[in-house]
Parts: sequence; structure tokens; C-alpha cells
Amino acid sequence: MREVCFCGRSGEIEDREPVLTDKARWVLRCPSEACGHLDDLSWLSEEASLLVWGEARRRREGCSREAA
Ligand SMILES: [Zn+2]
Repeated sequence: MREVCFCGRSGEIEDREPVLTDKARWVLRCPSEACGHLDDLSWLSEEASLLVWGEARRRREGCSREAA
């Protein structure tokens, strides 16, 4: 799923950094240090946002592939 961040970064939303907030909400953080925008995926249905978040986690933890 492609998306464009406020900072102008474009890419797959699943490549964002998955973060679990203290309110037990899953959000995806922009990997750009200067941006760090948090997307709470509220624009997706709960089911869809869980899927996207789960995929982002899998990409983070899966393999030892260096993030390019
Ligand atoms: Zn950004």
C-alpha cells in the first residue's frame, strides 16, 4: 500500500516503523528522523489497520535484511 507522508517521503506504508502506544493503539511512525509523524491508521478500518501494522512488524522483525 503506497502512501505519501507530510514530509514528502513516499513509499509503502508497511515500511513505516510499528509502534504500540501507551494507550494500546497501534501506530506507524515515519522512518524519517526529521519527521517522525505518527499515523494511527484511523483512516483504515480496524481490521485493515491491524493487517497493515502486522505486516510492518513482520518486515521489522523478519530476516536480518538491512533496511535500505
Ligand atoms: Zn514523514
